Amino acid sequence: MSDATLVRGRWVVTGSGQDDPVLSDAAVRVVDGRIAEVGDRETLRGRHPDAASLGSDRVAIMPGMVNAHHHSNGVSAIQQGIRDRLLESWLLSLSLGRRLSPRLATLLSAARLLRTGVTSVVDVHSDRGSARAYADNAREALAAYDDAGIRVAFAAGLMTQCFLVAGAGEDEKFLAGLPDDELRRFAARRLPPPDNLSEDDYFGIVDDLWRRYRTHDRIDVWYAPPGPQWVSDDFMQRIAEQAEAHDTGVQTHVSESFYEMLHGPLYYGKPTIRHLFDLGVLGPRFSIAHGVWLTKPEIELMAETGAAVSHNPSSNLRLRAGIAPLNGMLAAGVTVGLGMDGTTINDDEDYFDEMRLAMRLHRTPRFDGPAPEPAQVLEMATTGGARLMRKEDTLGAIVPGRVADLVLIDLDRVAWPWVSPEADPRELLLMRAGAGDVDTVLVGGEVVFRDGRPTRFDLDEVGREAAAMLGGQAFRSADAAMVERLRRHVEAHYQAWEVPDLVPWTVYNAHL
Ligand SMILES: [Zn+2]
Repeated sequence: MSDATLVRGRWVVTGSGQDDPVLSDAAVRVVDGRIAEVGDRETLRGRHPDAASLGSDRVAIMPGMVNAHHHSNGVSAIQQGIRDRLLESWLLSLSLGRRLSPRLATLLSAARLLRTGVTSVVDVHSDRGSARAYADNAREALAAYDDAGIRVAFAAGLMTQCFLVAGAGEDEKFLAGLPDDELRRFAARRLPPPDNLSEDDYFGIVDDLWRRYRTHDRIDVWYAPPGPQWVSDDFMQRIAEQAEAHDTGVQTHVSESFYEMLHGPLYYGKPTIRHLFDLGVLGPRFSIAHGVWLTKPEIELMAETGAAVSHNPSSNLRLRAGIAPLNGMLAAGVTVGLGMDGTTINDDEDYFDEMRLAMRLHRTPRFDGPAPEPAQVLEMATTGGARLMRKEDTLGAIVPGRVADLVLIDLDRVAWPWVSPEADPRELLLMRAGAGDVDTVLVGGEVVFRDGRPTRFDLDEVGREAAAMLGGQAFRSADAAMVERLRRHVEAHYQAWEVPDLVPWTVYNAHL
């Protein structure tokens, strides 16, 4: 789009900060995909009479939001018939899901994110199999992102150890301890297949993908070691070196579950973030998902090194991970983004619900206790996520020079039948809007979502193809029975770990 477009709204929320104004009856002038000017609608229209028009006085305009941690599964685990469990057991049951092609999974997922005003996403992709299959799947997913038009940091991952249970060297003992050969054979299917790609294959493939997309304006290729317990220290360090060489990002999962917190002292002799610090991998290009069980010294290390966290409150509740110390992270100055992890409270990936959950979950019950303000949550959703993606100069606010990633929210329901002139429009949107109110979404000045659907592909057709592909696969009931058997042994492995005395960040109730 080279011609100027004026995008108008009843309100333009220029950013999340106190100094970022909310303009009334305003417009955003977009030229060549970037924001050229923001100001009074009539003044801008007077100066640019030939600019194309978008928006109306019935919409509010917000910066596009950042989903700081995601897995593009296409359909949810619940839709796959997999119920929520603690992470370690849930991961086991995920293997029962039917397979969706990377293209369909990515397009379904991108449509769902655009529908809720997410214009940038960090997608953590895990895969295994032959080098060729790994490369083909990643290429197919990236091509689908290119088609969908959403911005993505595609973080390609590989697991190199602990395929059955956490703890380096524990898989062998675990297998040996299983009660019969049938269960042992089934469990061994979780180990890498004989033709599995090597670590060198992985680095070669990600390097190739990075080269292919290095000049793409919406796609970045990152590294995603799935979690410190799932890769060797050497592999983690090699990833950090490669990310540095390519000036790209790394995202991993840390201290999501209670047992991941126990894992650090047990197997590293120290908390996991301390271990990562000692490996020399922490820094602004490094982000972790969850961080539910971070200790105070770990939070300080995160702040000191500039490493970022994606806070995923819904997912943490659903998989019984716990409640992350968001207030502690914000107070320490950690970069915090907001992520949905493909697993949200209403199973619909509505980013507005996620913002409300983040806001309400951490409002502690005493006058002298912390409570995040709406502006802080909006900041996580926009500039926090932008910083996590190391794009704080281009994303997250509606100011001249940034990319024109804009979300137009229909106010017909949100503001009906009346809104006080004193109400803060930012809070009104944060407290009342939902995915269903998103009218139009622009990425780089291009309309990629309008009238309830993505503009660049036929979502109905993608839905039909996905239903046909998933519906054509039989449920593996024999495997399901084996997963149930194996689950008891996996859970027993973790239950044997000693639990230290723990002091909570916040006291929410008392058993007197
Ligand atoms: Zn995740």
